[in-house]
Amino acid sequence: MYSFSQLQQFVQCELRYAYRYVLKYPEPKTTSLALILWSAVHDTLEWLYRRVSFQTIPTQAQVVQQYEEQWAKQLEGVQDELDTEQLAEYRQRGLSYIDWYYAKYQPFDKNIPMEMEKNIHFTIGDGHKMRGKIDRLDIDGHDLTIVDYKTSRKRADDKHDEYRAQITLYAKGLQEQYGTKLKKLYGKVVYLHLHNEVEREITPEAIDAIEQEYMDIITQIEQKKAKWADVQWLFADGTKVWDVFPSHAWSWCNYCPFKELCPEFAHAFVESEQISAGDLSPEVIQAMLDQYVELADQYKSLGKKIDSLKDQLTEYAVKNDFARLYGQGASVGIQSRDNRSIPSDLAEQAEAYLRGQGLRDDLQSLDRYALARAVKAGDLDTMIEQWLVVNKKSRYLGQVKKEK
Ligand code: SF4
Repeated sequence: MYSFSQLQQFVQCELRYAYRYVLKYPEPKTTSLALILWSAVHDTLEWLYRRVSFQTIPTQAQVVQQYEEQWAKQLEGVQDELDTEQLAEYRQRGLSYIDWYYAKYQPFDKNIPMEMEKNIHFTIGDGHKMRGKIDRLDIDGHDLTIVDYKTSRKRADDKHDEYRAQITLYAKGLQEQYGTKLKKLYGKVVYLHLHNEVEREITPEAIDAIEQEYMDIITQIEQKKAKWADVQWLFADGTKVWDVFPSHAWSWCNYCPFKELCPEFAHAFVESEQISAGDLSPEVIQAMLDQYVELADQYKSLGKKIDSLKDQLTEYAVKNDFARLYGQGASVGIQSRDNRSIPSDLAEQAEAYLRGQGLRDDLQSLDRYALARAVKAGDLDTMIEQWLVVNKKSRYLGQVKKEK
Protein backbone atom coordinates (compact mmCIF):
# COMPACT_ATOMS: atom_id res chain seq x y z
CA MET A 1 0.00 0.00 0.00
CA TYR A 2 1.30 3.43 -0.93
CA SER A 3 0.75 6.84 0.60
CA PHE A 4 1.09 10.17 -1.14
CA SER A 5 4.10 11.18 0.99
CA GLN A 6 5.78 7.86 0.22
CA LEU A 7 5.43 8.42 -3.53
CA GLN A 8 6.53 12.00 -3.13
CA GLN A 9 9.66 10.82 -1.34
CA PHE A 10 10.52 8.65 -4.34
CA VAL A 11 10.12 11.66 -6.64
CA GLN A 12 12.39 13.77 -4.41
CA CYS A 13 15.15 11.21 -3.81
CA GLU A 14 14.98 7.58 -4.89
CA LEU A 15 17.80 6.57 -2.56
CA ARG A 16 16.08 7.87 0.55
CA TYR A 17 12.94 6.05 -0.57
CA ALA A 18 14.91 2.83 -1.04
CA TYR A 19 16.52 3.02 2.41
CA ARG A 20 13.14 3.56 4.02
CA TYR A 21 10.76 1.40 1.98
CA VAL A 22 12.86 -1.19 0.13
CA LEU A 23 15.66 -1.95 2.58
CA LYS A 24 13.30 -1.00 5.42
CA TYR A 25 15.93 0.78 7.51
CA PRO A 26 14.29 2.37 10.54
CA GLU A 27 13.89 6.10 10.22
CA PRO A 28 14.46 7.69 13.63
CA LYS A 29 11.72 10.00 14.81
CA THR A 30 12.88 13.58 14.43
CA THR A 31 11.58 16.64 16.19
CA SER A 32 11.50 19.96 14.46
CA LEU A 33 9.91 23.21 15.44
CA ALA A 34 8.07 23.29 12.12
CA LEU A 35 6.51 19.91 12.90
CA ILE A 36 5.60 20.91 16.46
CA LEU A 37 3.94 24.08 15.17
CA TRP A 38 2.05 22.23 12.45
CA SER A 39 0.78 19.57 14.88
CA ALA A 40 -0.33 22.06 17.54
CA VAL A 41 -2.23 24.26 15.06
CA HIS A 42 -3.63 21.29 13.21
CA ASP A 43 -4.91 19.60 16.38
CA THR A 44 -6.42 22.86 17.60
CA LEU A 45 -8.39 23.30 14.37
CA GLU A 46 -9.51 19.69 14.56
CA TRP A 47 -10.76 20.34 18.13
CA LEU A 48 -12.54 23.50 16.96
CA TYR A 49 -14.36 21.79 14.09
CA ARG A 50 -15.41 18.81 16.17
CA ARG A 51 -17.32 21.30 18.29
CA VAL A 52 -18.60 23.23 15.27
CA SER A 53 -19.98 19.99 13.83
CA PHE A 54 -22.10 19.69 17.02
CA GLN A 55 -23.13 23.33 16.63
CA THR A 56 -21.16 24.45 19.66
CA ILE A 57 -19.01 27.37 18.68
CA PRO A 58 -16.09 27.92 21.08
CA THR A 59 -15.01 31.48 21.79
CA GLN A 60 -11.70 32.77 20.47
CA ALA A 61 -10.27 32.64 24.01
CA GLN A 62 -11.22 28.94 24.27
CA VAL A 63 -9.55 28.18 20.95
CA VAL A 64 -6.40 30.01 22.03
CA GLN A 65 -6.49 28.08 25.32
CA GLN A 66 -6.76 24.85 23.33
CA TYR A 67 -3.79 25.87 21.20
CA GLU A 68 -1.69 26.47 24.34
CA GLU A 69 -2.62 22.99 25.60
CA GLN A 70 -1.77 21.37 22.26
CA TRP A 71 1.52 23.28 22.15
CA ALA A 72 2.46 22.05 25.64
CA LYS A 73 1.52 18.50 24.65
CA GLN A 74 3.78 18.62 21.61
CA LEU A 75 6.71 19.72 23.75
CA GLU A 76 6.46 16.86 26.22
CA GLY A 77 9.81 15.09 26.43
CA VAL A 78 11.50 17.19 23.72
CA GLN A 79 11.53 20.70 25.14
CA ASP A 80 15.11 20.44 26.42
CA GLU A 81 16.42 19.64 22.94
CA LEU A 82 15.05 22.89 21.50
CA ASP A 83 16.27 26.45 21.42
CA THR A 84 14.22 28.59 23.87
CA GLU A 85 14.22 31.69 21.70
CA GLN A 86 13.09 29.82 18.62
CA LEU A 87 10.46 28.01 20.64
CA ALA A 88 8.94 31.32 21.73
CA GLU A 89 8.98 32.57 18.14
CA TYR A 90 7.23 29.47 16.79
CA ARG A 91 4.64 29.48 19.59
CA GLN A 92 3.84 33.08 18.72
CA ARG A 93 3.52 32.19 15.05
CA GLY A 94 0.94 29.55 15.91
CA LEU A 95 -1.00 32.07 18.00
CA SER A 96 -1.11 34.49 15.07
CA TYR A 97 -2.43 31.70 12.80
CA ILE A 98 -5.19 30.90 15.28
CA ASP A 99 -6.14 34.59 15.67
CA TRP A 100 -6.31 35.11 11.92
CA TYR A 101 -8.22 31.90 11.35
CA TYR A 102 -10.81 32.64 14.01
CA ALA A 103 -11.35 36.21 12.81
CA LYS A 104 -11.74 35.12 9.19
CA TYR A 105 -14.04 32.13 9.55
CA GLN A 106 -16.20 32.91 12.60
CA PRO A 107 -19.10 32.24 13.12
CA PHE A 108 -18.19 29.05 11.18
CA ASP A 109 -21.58 28.82 9.46
CA LYS A 110 -20.42 28.81 5.81
CA ASN A 111 -19.49 25.15 5.67
CA ILE A 112 -20.75 22.02 7.33
CA PRO A 113 -17.77 19.99 8.52
CA MET A 114 -18.63 16.37 7.78
CA GLU A 115 -15.45 14.63 8.95
CA MET A 116 -12.14 15.55 10.52
CA GLU A 117 -8.92 13.56 10.11
CA LYS A 118 -10.67 11.30 7.66
CA ASN A 119 -8.76 8.19 6.62
CA ILE A 120 -9.29 7.18 3.02
CA HIS A 121 -8.34 4.00 1.21
CA PHE A 122 -8.63 3.69 -2.52
CA THR A 123 -7.04 2.13 -5.58
CA ILE A 124 -5.31 3.70 -8.54
CA GLY A 125 -4.52 2.22 -11.94
CA ASP A 126 -4.83 -1.53 -12.10
CA GLY A 127 -5.41 -2.13 -8.39
CA HIS A 128 -2.61 -0.34 -6.56
CA LYS A 129 -3.79 0.41 -3.05
CA MET A 130 -3.40 3.90 -1.66
CA ARG A 131 -4.12 5.46 1.69
CA GLY A 132 -4.34 9.02 2.89
CA LYS A 133 -5.72 11.35 5.52
CA ILE A 134 -7.91 14.39 4.87
CA ASP A 135 -7.64 17.22 7.43
CA ARG A 136 -11.29 18.15 7.04
CA LEU A 137 -14.12 17.26 4.71
CA ASP A 138 -16.94 19.79 4.28
CA ILE A 139 -20.32 19.07 2.72
CA ASP A 140 -22.70 21.35 0.90
CA GLY A 141 -25.65 19.49 -0.63
CA HIS A 142 -24.10 16.99 -3.00
CA ASP A 143 -20.77 18.79 -3.12
CA LEU A 144 -17.73 17.90 -1.02
CA THR A 145 -14.71 20.07 -0.22
CA ILE A 146 -11.37 18.65 0.90
CA VAL A 147 -9.70 21.13 3.26
CA ASP A 148 -5.99 20.99 3.97
CA TYR A 149 -4.15 23.29 6.44
CA LYS A 150 -0.61 24.34 5.63
CA THR A 151 1.81 26.28 7.80
CA SER A 152 4.41 26.74 5.05
CA ARG A 153 5.69 30.22 4.39
CA LYS A 154 5.52 29.89 0.63
CA ARG A 155 2.64 29.24 -1.70
CA ALA A 156 3.36 26.35 -4.03
CA ASP A 157 3.88 27.41 -7.63
CA ASP A 158 1.77 25.83 -10.34
CA LYS A 159 4.56 23.62 -11.67
CA HIS A 160 5.51 22.07 -8.33
CA ASP A 161 2.21 22.17 -6.52
CA GLU A 162 2.34 18.95 -4.55
CA TYR A 163 -0.51 20.14 -2.31
CA ARG A 164 -2.75 20.32 -5.35
CA ALA A 165 -1.58 16.89 -6.50
CA GLN A 166 -2.25 15.41 -3.05
CA ILE A 167 -5.77 16.83 -2.81
CA THR A 168 -6.60 15.74 -6.36
CA LEU A 169 -5.40 12.22 -5.58
CA TYR A 170 -7.53 12.14 -2.42
CA ALA A 171 -10.48 13.31 -4.52
CA LYS A 172 -10.06 10.06 -6.44
CA GLY A 173 -10.62 8.27 -3.10
CA LEU A 174 -13.79 10.25 -2.43
CA GLN A 175 -15.02 9.58 -5.96
CA GLU A 176 -14.56 5.88 -5.25
CA GLN A 177 -16.28 6.11 -1.84
CA TYR A 178 -19.24 8.35 -2.57
CA GLY A 179 -19.67 7.69 -6.31
CA THR A 180 -23.13 8.64 -7.54
CA LYS A 181 -24.01 10.66 -4.46
CA LEU A 182 -21.42 13.22 -5.42
CA LYS A 183 -22.04 16.19 -7.65
CA LYS A 184 -18.93 18.31 -7.44
CA LEU A 185 -15.62 18.07 -5.63
CA TYR A 186 -13.55 21.00 -4.43
CA GLY A 187 -10.11 21.26 -2.90
CA LYS A 188 -9.15 24.04 -0.49
CA VAL A 189 -5.64 24.73 0.80
CA VAL A 190 -5.59 27.10 3.78
CA TYR A 191 -2.20 28.81 4.02
CA LEU A 192 -2.20 29.83 7.68
CA HIS A 193 1.09 31.71 7.53
CA LEU A 194 0.10 33.64 4.43
CA HIS A 195 -3.42 34.37 5.74
CA ASN A 196 -4.79 33.11 2.51
CA GLU A 197 -6.72 30.22 0.98
CA VAL A 198 -6.83 28.70 -2.49
CA GLU A 199 -9.95 26.86 -3.55
CA ARG A 200 -10.61 25.17 -6.86
CA GLU A 201 -12.96 22.63 -8.33
CA ILE A 202 -11.45 19.21 -8.91
CA THR A 203 -12.69 17.99 -12.27
CA PRO A 204 -12.87 14.31 -13.32
CA GLU A 205 -10.23 15.16 -15.98
CA ALA A 206 -7.84 16.47 -13.31
CA ILE A 207 -8.38 13.27 -11.30
CA ASP A 208 -7.66 11.10 -14.36
CA ALA A 209 -4.48 13.07 -15.12
CA ILE A 210 -3.15 12.81 -11.55
CA GLU A 211 -4.03 9.13 -11.39
CA GLN A 212 -1.99 8.54 -14.55
CA GLU A 213 0.92 10.59 -13.21
CA TYR A 214 1.07 8.66 -9.93
CA MET A 215 0.52 5.33 -11.67
CA ASP A 216 3.64 6.08 -13.72
CA ILE A 217 5.55 6.72 -10.49
CA ILE A 218 4.30 3.43 -9.01
CA THR A 219 5.31 1.61 -12.20
CA GLN A 220 8.82 3.04 -11.90
CA ILE A 221 9.00 1.99 -8.24
CA GLU A 222 7.84 -1.54 -8.99
CA GLN A 223 10.30 -1.89 -11.87
CA LYS A 224 13.18 -0.69 -9.70
CA LYS A 225 12.19 -2.96 -6.82
CA ALA A 226 12.13 -5.91 -9.22
CA LYS A 227 15.54 -4.92 -10.58
CA TRP A 228 16.94 -4.67 -7.06
CA ALA A 229 15.50 -8.07 -6.19
CA ASP A 230 17.15 -9.53 -9.33
CA VAL A 231 20.47 -7.98 -8.41
CA GLN A 232 20.36 -9.65 -5.01
CA TRP A 233 19.14 -12.95 -6.36
CA LEU A 234 21.95 -13.09 -8.90
CA PHE A 235 24.46 -11.91 -6.27
CA ALA A 236 25.47 -9.35 -8.89
CA ASP A 237 28.76 -8.14 -7.53
CA GLY A 238 29.36 -4.47 -7.07
CA THR A 239 25.85 -3.23 -7.77
CA LYS A 240 24.97 -0.78 -5.05
CA VAL A 241 21.52 0.29 -4.00
CA TRP A 242 22.17 3.79 -5.43
CA ASP A 243 22.94 2.26 -8.85
CA VAL A 244 19.28 1.24 -8.97
CA PHE A 245 17.79 4.04 -6.85
CA PRO A 246 19.93 7.14 -7.54
CA SER A 247 20.41 9.87 -4.96
CA HIS A 248 19.19 13.37 -5.60
CA ALA A 249 20.83 15.86 -3.26
CA TRP A 250 18.88 19.00 -2.53
CA SER A 251 17.74 21.13 0.37
CA TRP A 252 15.77 18.24 1.94
CA CYS A 253 19.07 16.38 2.59
CA ASN A 254 19.38 18.40 5.82
CA TYR A 255 16.43 16.44 7.18
CA CYS A 256 17.46 13.05 5.79
CA PRO A 257 18.26 10.42 8.45
CA PHE A 258 20.31 8.40 5.94
CA LYS A 259 22.94 11.07 5.23
CA GLU A 260 25.79 8.93 6.61
CA LEU A 261 24.83 6.09 4.26
CA CYS A 262 24.45 8.32 1.22
CA PRO A 263 27.36 8.56 -1.25
CA GLU A 264 26.70 12.30 -1.56
CA PHE A 265 27.62 12.85 2.11
CA ALA A 266 29.25 9.66 3.44
CA HIS A 267 32.83 10.96 3.12
CA ALA A 268 32.08 13.85 5.47
CA PHE A 269 31.37 11.29 8.22
CA VAL A 270 34.51 9.15 7.85
CA GLU A 271 36.71 9.13 10.97
CA SER A 272 40.45 8.34 10.95
CA GLU A 273 40.01 5.18 13.02
CA GLN A 274 37.51 3.76 10.53
CA ILE A 275 39.85 3.60 7.53
CA SER A 276 41.18 0.27 6.41
CA ALA A 277 44.88 -0.47 5.93
CA GLY A 278 46.36 1.07 2.81
CA ASP A 279 43.68 3.74 2.51
CA LEU A 280 44.56 7.40 2.82
CA SER A 281 43.42 9.04 6.03
CA PRO A 282 40.55 11.57 5.91
CA GLU A 283 43.04 14.32 6.82
CA VAL A 284 45.27 13.48 3.83
CA ILE A 285 42.28 13.38 1.49
CA GLN A 286 41.09 16.68 2.89
CA ALA A 287 44.50 18.30 2.28
CA MET A 288 44.61 16.86 -1.27
CA LEU A 289 41.14 18.17 -2.00
CA ASP A 290 42.02 21.64 -0.72
CA GLN A 291 45.14 21.64 -2.89
CA TYR A 292 43.12 20.48 -5.91
CA VAL A 293 40.60 23.29 -5.42
CA GLU A 294 43.37 25.87 -5.12
CA LEU A 295 45.15 24.61 -8.26
CA ALA A 296 41.90 24.40 -10.20
CA ASP A 297 41.23 28.06 -9.32
CA GLN A 298 44.73 29.04 -10.47
CA TYR A 299 44.27 27.00 -13.66
CA LYS A 300 41.03 28.81 -14.39
CA SER A 301 42.49 32.25 -13.89
CA LEU A 302 45.60 31.32 -15.95
CA GLY A 303 43.29 30.15 -18.75
CA LYS A 304 41.60 33.54 -18.75
CA LYS A 305 44.97 35.35 -18.87
CA ILE A 306 46.16 33.11 -21.74
CA ASP A 307 42.98 33.76 -23.74
CA SER A 308 43.31 37.49 -23.26
CA LEU A 309 46.99 37.44 -24.40
CA LYS A 310 46.06 35.32 -27.43
CA ASP A 311 43.34 37.80 -28.44
CA GLN A 312 45.60 40.82 -28.08
CA LEU A 313 48.50 39.21 -29.97
CA THR A 314 46.26 37.97 -32.80
CA GLU A 315 44.60 41.38 -33.16
CA TYR A 316 48.02 43.08 -33.29
CA ALA A 317 49.40 40.62 -35.90
CA VAL A 318 46.32 40.84 -38.17
CA LYS A 319 46.25 44.65 -37.98
CA ASN A 320 49.92 44.87 -39.01
CA ASP A 321 49.88 41.99 -41.55
CA PHE A 322 52.39 39.95 -39.56
CA ALA A 323 52.26 36.21 -40.16
CA ARG A 324 54.57 35.49 -37.22
CA LEU A 325 55.39 37.29 -33.99
CA TYR A 326 58.75 37.06 -32.23
CA GLY A 327 59.61 37.19 -28.56
CA GLN A 328 62.97 36.54 -26.91
CA GLY A 329 63.71 32.93 -27.67
CA ALA A 330 60.35 31.93 -29.16
CA SER A 331 57.96 32.80 -31.98
CA VAL A 332 54.39 31.99 -32.87
CA GLY A 333 52.64 31.88 -36.25
CA ILE A 334 49.19 33.29 -37.04
CA GLN A 335 46.91 30.66 -38.54
CA SER A 336 43.67 31.25 -40.33
CA ARG A 337 40.62 29.09 -40.76
CA ASP A 338 37.47 29.35 -42.85
CA ASN A 339 34.33 28.72 -40.90
CA ARG A 340 31.88 27.19 -43.30
CA SER A 341 28.24 26.47 -42.80
CA ILE A 342 25.09 25.88 -44.79
CA PRO A 343 23.28 29.19 -45.42
CA SER A 344 19.73 29.34 -44.07
CA ASP A 345 18.10 29.51 -47.53
CA LEU A 346 19.72 26.16 -48.42
CA ALA A 347 19.20 24.50 -45.04
CA GLU A 348 15.88 22.91 -45.96
CA GLN A 349 17.30 21.45 -49.20
CA ALA A 350 20.38 20.15 -47.36
CA GLU A 351 18.23 18.63 -44.67
CA ALA A 352 16.07 16.81 -47.23
CA TYR A 353 19.22 15.53 -48.90
CA LEU A 354 20.67 14.27 -45.65
CA ARG A 355 17.38 12.66 -44.73
CA GLY A 356 17.45 10.87 -48.08
CA GLN A 357 20.91 9.58 -47.16
CA GLY A 358 19.60 8.45 -43.77
CA LEU A 359 22.05 10.75 -42.03
CA ARG A 360 19.97 13.56 -40.62
CA ASP A 361 19.96 12.21 -37.08
CA ASP A 362 23.74 11.75 -37.08
CA LEU A 363 24.32 15.26 -38.37
CA GLN A 364 21.86 17.10 -36.21
CA SER A 365 23.71 20.38 -36.01
CA LEU A 366 24.63 20.46 -39.72
CA ASP A 367 28.05 21.73 -38.65
CA ARG A 368 30.99 21.61 -41.01
CA TYR A 369 33.10 19.33 -38.86
CA ALA A 370 30.43 16.66 -38.72
CA LEU A 371 29.84 17.00 -42.48
CA ALA A 372 33.55 16.85 -43.23
CA ARG A 373 33.93 13.76 -41.03
CA ALA A 374 31.03 12.10 -42.84
CA VAL A 375 32.57 12.90 -46.27
CA LYS A 376 35.94 11.58 -45.12
CA ALA A 377 34.38 8.41 -43.73
CA GLY A 378 32.69 7.84 -47.07
CA ASP A 379 29.22 8.16 -45.50
CA LEU A 380 28.42 11.17 -47.60
CA ASP A 381 29.34 12.16 -51.13
CA THR A 382 31.10 15.45 -51.68
CA MET A 383 27.95 17.03 -53.12
CA ILE A 384 27.01 18.37 -49.70
CA GLU A 385 30.18 20.43 -49.74
CA GLN A 386 28.74 22.60 -52.53
CA TRP A 387 26.27 23.97 -50.03
CA LEU A 388 28.84 25.01 -47.52
CA VAL A 389 29.79 28.68 -47.72
CA VAL A 390 32.42 30.59 -45.83
CA ASN A 391 30.62 32.71 -43.31
CA LYS A 392 33.59 33.78 -41.24
CA LYS A 393 37.37 33.74 -41.44
CA SER A 394 38.97 33.28 -38.09
CA ARG A 395 42.55 33.92 -37.06
CA TYR A 396 44.30 32.32 -34.16
CA LEU A 397 47.73 31.71 -32.69
CA GLY A 398 49.42 28.50 -33.82
CA GLN A 399 52.06 26.42 -32.03
CA VAL A 400 54.82 28.23 -30.17
CA LYS A 401 58.23 27.63 -31.74
CA LYS A 402 61.15 27.85 -29.34
CA GLU A 403 64.32 29.29 -30.95
CA LYS A 404 67.35 27.05 -30.54
S1 SF4 B 1 21.10 12.68 1.98
FE1 SF4 B 1 19.91 13.61 0.32
S2 SF4 B 1 20.63 12.59 -1.53
FE2 SF4 B 1 21.25 11.31 0.19
S3 SF4 B 1 19.64 9.81 0.48
FE3 SF4 B 1 19.16 11.50 1.82
S4 SF4 B 1 17.82 12.84 0.63
FE4 SF4 B 1 18.82 11.45 -0.79
